[in-house]
Amino acid sequence: MAIQVTDLHMLRDQLMVRRQKLENAVAKTQTANLLHLLEQVDHALERVDHGSYGVCEHCAGTVEPERLFADPLTQLCLDCLNPTEQRALEQDLLLAARIQAGLLPKRDFSTAAWKVAYHYEPAGQVSGDYCDLVQHGKDLYFMVGDVSGKGVAAAMLMSNLHALFRVLIPTGLPLEQLVERANRLFCESTLPTQYATLIVGRADDFGNVEICNGGHPAPFHVGGHGVAAIEAATVPIGLFCDQKFTSTTLRTTPGDSLVIYTDGISESESPDGAEFGSASLAKLLGACHQMPSRELVDKCLQEVLNFRSGSPRLDDQALMVLQFAPTA
Ligand SMILES: [Zn+2]
Repeated sequence: MAIQVTDLHMLRDQLMVRRQKLENAVAKTQTANLLHLLEQVDHALERVDHGSYGVCEHCAGTVEPERLFADPLTQLCLDCLNPTEQRALEQDLLLAARIQAGLLPKRDFSTAAWKVAYHYEPAGQVSGDYCDLVQHGKDLYFMVGDVSGKGVAAAMLMSNLHALFRVLIPTGLPLEQLVERANRLFCESTLPTQYATLIVGRADDFGNVEICNGGHPAPFHVGGHGVAAIEAATVPIGLFCDQKFTSTTLRTTPGDSLVIYTDGISESESPDGAEFGSASLAKLLGACHQMPSRELVDKCLQEVLNFRSGSPRLDDQALMVLQFAPTA
């Protein structure tokens, strides 16, 4: 995809900021490296003005926009990098993937009252999906989200969200305020085109659950009563700094599960282009609601895999099942 006009304006602004900083530095010490960088920034600004910015110097193809955001001076598309440069990039990606894997919660996470299992799988090396569990006092906080875009840029935003909630949860803010604060901080630290859909929830030892939904597919409350979508009409976080969020409360009984997923699950496609869909997921959950959380996660994944029957996975996938299973 070619670079969008709004992105181009943003990149131009970024280049201008860099130019100013370089000029300030050059005024103090004129090193060859600083002068060379300044020259490169000026060339990039010329390319913006001539409409050739983001065009690969070698093949005239498109330089990947996320790479321009990471390095606005990039002039070659991925395919045109030399083997050394490609290897360096691959190593960066591997490292990013390792860092990201380190941010995930324990694979099977349990408290005195909740048994949680999840699945998290990037479409490429790194994922823009967000998935975390944090215990604070007697409360279990759970987060599942999906950051706009893909690849490293999305993964960086994902780690931003991860850090935000890890810092904010211990403050003990009420859930709605917690999300509002996170939204504001996220807004201030991202580009205007970036946002995230997000579920943030808090569960206590008695089966009481509070959920805040920022534009994410509705989670399911699954149990002997059937399957109910927990609907809430809100917009993603990162769009409006002063946005208000409202939460929904529900009561679960032992054996009930909450199932949260990203659209990489529901939008999985079969070879003929049909979509798996949230209705199929709901149906499956209804039929398997008595399964323990790990088995339920595996069952859902198997079903999605069968549905795809070999067609490629296009999007990052995350699925979390929280089962109310009090020991006492
Ligand atoms: Zn190229």
